[in-house]
Formats: sequence, structure tokens, C-alpha cells
Amino acid sequence: MSKVLVIGAGGVGSVAVHKMAANPDIFSEIHLASRTRAKCDAIAASVKQRTGVNVPTYALDAEDIPALVALIEQIGPQLVVNLALPYQDLAIMDGCLRTGVDYLDTANYEPKDVAKFEYKWQWDLHDRFREKGLMALLGSGFDPGVTSVFAMWLKKHRLKTIRTLDILDCNGGDHGQAFATNFNPEINIREVTAPARHWENNQWIETPAMSVKQAFDFEAVGTRNMYLMYHEELESLAKFVPELERARFWMTFGEEYIKHLTVLQNVGMTRIDPVIYEGREIIPLQFLKVVLPEPSTLGPTTKGKTNIGVIATGEALDGSGEKTFYIKNICDHEEAYAETGNQAVSYTTGVPAMIGSAMMLGGQWRGKGVFNMEEFDPDPFMDMLNQHGLPWTVEELDGPLGF
Ligand code: NDP
Repeated sequence: MSKVLVIGAGGVGSVAVHKMAANPDIFSEIHLASRTRAKCDAIAASVKQRTGVNVPTYALDAEDIPALVALIEQIGPQLVVNLALPYQDLAIMDGCLRTGVDYLDTANYEPKDVAKFEYKWQWDLHDRFREKGLMALLGSGFDPGVTSVFAMWLKKHRLKTIRTLDILDCNGGDHGQAFATNFNPEINIREVTAPARHWENNQWIETPAMSVKQAFDFEAVGTRNMYLMYHEELESLAKFVPELERARFWMTFGEEYIKHLTVLQNVGMTRIDPVIYEGREIIPLQFLKVVLPEPSTLGPTTKGKTNIGVIATGEALDGSGEKTFYIKNICDHEEAYAETGNQAVSYTTGVPAMIGSAMMLGGQWRGKGVFNMEEFDPDPFMDMLNQHGLPWTVEELDGPLGF
């Protein structure tokens, strides 16, 4: 029986709190804080109506360390689940260190003024968490998160070594809008406009953003163009699967999305440096976020499925030579919405955040320090994916990818 404080009342926070409330044997008390309390209250009302569970809510700017510390001390949780934005990671980790509470998040730290994300800042806190006997679990969403657990499950049950690994992220959903992002627009656009990077022969290979394109036939979605991108789990996979010769991340984008993004980029609307507008500084990308649809409003109209998986090639565990396996989850936007009031991109992130929290609270995943998903036994996590709405399948392919 455990008390948690969730910070962040967006789509991901909403799904995680709904799923925690549906598992009262694991989560005995759930508290929800975010910058805008009204958003917490709307989630709490939905949770009450769907599950009967009361979720106390609070207004909190997580970058205000004294306020954060005071709230953690007032509530006394065993775990703080950070589902705000990557900008808040270090502040919330600091709050956990000051109050002696465990920490979990779904995205690695990113400074506001540079479109760059890496684990270094959070890995640097390992000794401080270890000395205090605390645990921090990084990246417990779908990607990063489940994708690393998929890779480690293959390494435990099918492959002795992984030579090449490809993560394929397809959102085959249609929200009926000309242009919208499925999670926080600012974070999403920073991610897709950054140069692509993949791991090959022990080094990072950089290519211009969206310059490498590949068609792929996704089960339950159909053939889509996917683009090579950089994604944070490539960094942890390269660290924890040292034999990897090549690791790549691919994400699908439709023609309309790319057309709009190209124009927005060309006219300077995706810039993250300040410009002066009517005498005051504004950041174009932050202004753009305000005029784009809020991802949480896309839920009622989004139809179709997501299909996210890992294809890995390596030496078979049973000594039968080189083998290739494809492990994936397919999630339906309308079913996710019916269950939690959120579309599948939030659902596929919020459910693993709940499961990672359950792993920590239940003791299946324990340690002192800062950890990534690759460092723990994948089996109990994979069992919970099957039980809590993200079932997965694994199949053997005829051979390695031909691209
Ligand atoms: P949203 O933008 O919908 O929600 C973020 C929430 O955090 C908002 O409620 C926002 O408040 C709140 N917030 C922002 N700044 C602060 C602050 N300083 N203090 C307190 N609360 C704050 O994002 P999502 O729900 O889509 O995403 C949440 C996280 O999940 C992000 O870090 C994102 O990168 C990550 N993610 C991870 C994925 C994965 O697979 N690993 C996939 C998708 C997302 P307000 O409403 O006032 O703005």
C-alpha cells in the first residue's frame, strides 16, 4: 500500500492517475499537482466518476523548489512521479533528494534554451541518490521506456547478443486537424526538428533532420513513411547493450504534418531563441504552442491505432545462429479514449509510468541511485503490460531488415 505524488496534469498524467486509481491494491493514495490546478481538478473528477477514488489536487510550479519541498513534506509520498515537462526533471529530482523520496519520470532532462536532451545531467545525480538510499527510475514511458524493456526481454529470452536494433514508432491515428501534435507541441517540435542521430560502430552518426526516409508496412495501420530521428533510449541502449553494432530510431509522419512543419520552420515559428514583439520578448515556439490544438483535446476525434516496436537481430540464445525478432504493441486510440478520456499517445506513455511506479513500490525493481529501464528484469514489467492495456506480441522474421 503506497502513497504517490504525481506532478503534471497533461494527457500522460491523466492516463497514469486513472490507471493508478484502477489499482488501489498498489496505489493506496494518489495526489496530483500541476501548474494549473483546474487541470488537476478535471482529472480528479474523471477519476472519481470512473473509479470512485478521490485524488487530492494542488497548484504547484515544480521549478519553485521551496514550494515543491513543502508540498512533498505535507503529503509524505513514497514516490514522486514526474509527468510534467523535461525542463522540470532536475528541479523535481532535487526536491526528492531534499525530502528523501524516490523519483520516476518518462523523458530525460532538456534545458529550455538549447534543443538538446541527454542523460548526463540526470546520471550525474547517481551518487547523491545512492548515498541517500533513494532510487530514481528514468524514462518509464513507451519510448523511452517499453522499447528498452522490449529489447532486454529479447536479450533475456531470445538472443544472446543484439547486433542491430531498430525502434519503429508509428502513430496511425487521424485526429481530423490540419496540424496538431499528439503530445506537448513544444517538446514534440523540438524533438523532430533536431538533427537525426544513430549509433553505429561505437559512435554517433548525425544526419540532417527528416532527411532519411523509409517506407514500412505496419500491422493494423498499413504502409507509412518513417524517418530516422534521434531518441533518448538510443543513449541508454548503447550504454547497457554494449555489443550493439547499430541502433536506430524511426518515427512515422504524414505528408500533411511534414508540409506544415516545413513551413513553420521556414518562417521561423519553431525558433527557441527570444524575439522582441511589441516591446516584450517572446519565444516563437512557445507562442506557436498556444495557438496549436492542445493534445488533450484530440482524444474525442482521434481514430486509428499506434504500433510501436523493436526489431532486433543477433545470435540466438539456443545456438541456432543469427535470428531476427520483432516485438511490438498495437494500441487503439478510441479504446484508450473510452477507458481514460485520452488518446493512445498519452495512453501508451501513462500506462508504463504506472507500471514503472508499481515496480518500484512493489520492490520488483529496486536499487539505490539513478537507473534506466535496461537495468532491471524485464519479466514483471512485461507481465503488467499484458494485464493493464498494452499487450505485446513477438514474432521471428525471415532475416534482418533490408535497409
Ligand atoms: P502536456 O503538455 O500535456 O502536460 C504537461 C503538464 O505539466 C501540464 O499539465 C503542465 O501544466 C505541467 N507543467 C508544465 N510545467 C510545469 C511546472 N513548472 N510545474 C508544474 N507543472 C508543470 O504533456 P504530456 O502529458 O503530453 O507529456 C508529459 C511528459 O511525458 C513530457 O515530459 C513528455 O516529454 C513525456 N512523454 C514521454 C513519452 C514517452 O513515451 N516516454 C511520450 C510522450 C510524452 P500547464 O497545464 O499549466 O501547462
